[in-house]
Amino acid sequence: MGEVIRAVVQTGPRQLEMREFPRPVIGPDDGGLLRIEACGICGSDVETYKGHLSQQWLPMVPGHEPLGIIEEASDAACARWGVKPGDRVAVEILIPCRSCDLCLAGRYMSCRNRIGSHGGSQPTSRGLGPWGGFAEYIHLHPNSILHKVRGDIPAEIAVMFNPLGAGVRWAVHIGEVGLGSTVLILGAGQRGLAAVLAARAAGAGTIIVTGLSRDAGKLELAHSFGADVTIDVEKEDTVERVREVTGGFGVDVVLELTPMADQPIRDALEAVRWGGRVVLAGLKGRRPVELSTDVIINKALTVVGAFSVDSRGYSEAIRLIESGRFPLERMHTHTFGLDEVGLAIETLAGEVPGQDAVHVAIVPGAS
Ligand SMILES: [Zn+2]
Ligand SMILES: [Zn+2]
Repeated sequence: MGEVIRAVVQTGPRQLEMREFPRPVIGPDDGGLLRIEACGICGSDVETYKGHLSQQWLPMVPGHEPLGIIEEASDAACARWGVKPGDRVAVEILIPCRSCDLCLAGRYMSCRNRIGSHGGSQPTSRGLGPWGGFAEYIHLHPNSILHKVRGDIPAEIAVMFNPLGAGVRWAVHIGEVGLGSTVLILGAGQRGLAAVLAARAAGAGTIIVTGLSRDAGKLELAHSFGADVTIDVEKEDTVERVREVTGGFGVDVVLELTPMADQPIRDALEAVRWGGRVVLAGLKGRRPVELSTDVIINKALTVVGAFSVDSRGYSEAIRLIESGRFPLERMHTHTFGLDEVGLAIETLAGEVPGQDAVHVAIVPGAS
């Protein structure tokens, strides 16, 4: 009998159970084994937990933002990843084929033959599991994508590579925020805050962030990350306020990051300047949204959808974390142990009275 490792398995909506798995035995073609230090939680974990996303992969081990230490890896995997046992790495969600035309063009997020994902679908080939980050250890498939992270940063901070990666990619790479840009960020969740930070690091001019009245703490945090103006949308009109701040001109770039709400999309089109860019990343539960496409035409806008994060986004986010230039510890609000994943997700979802969560992480060693 080999050793066993523990992982949290989701079996249905709001149903999680701790299970034991045989500890994967890593052969020469099997990639490696990662000891999880921390795994972040985001809005999509909340949706998966509630059962709003596809159930076709259940039962599965969720947790798609894993950070950990290489426990062991085959020589071939070490050479390919440029790591050795003992290194700390951040793991990307997707396990692509690395061979199809889209992979070779750098668009591996749309890989035609994806092998699986960490925290989602399970690889069928060389799949030793568990895969999701809510576990003591995970198997790293030979095709898993890893990023080295400096070892001396607290795990709860280092694991922010995922939300920060979204901030960098959505604001800077897709939004094209640069020196002097005026930016409106709709939504002050962890990704909104990450976008503030990325926009500030990229040299943005004026950064404006919106939130609800109950987001007062997050808007305060936005200020400390470099936002110039915050708007409580329950007390002020977003578009009017943006016009005021920009001398009637509108902003260069708008990031729409609010979940489920329609009005922010219409606000985005109104608040952006003529010829500006609007990045959409706030999911609306597949509902149609009513808006005037004439505004897009008459203002010659570029409207772009932003899906997930890519390698460049992650690696630049990790450099930002390692720079120590931002008070990231202020964003981390909650740490939970592996046996508290349900509570952790409910805390991030705002279902736990009195808890105002921004960034929540599972740390298997905690509790
Ligand atoms: Zn996530
Ligand atoms: Zn591919």
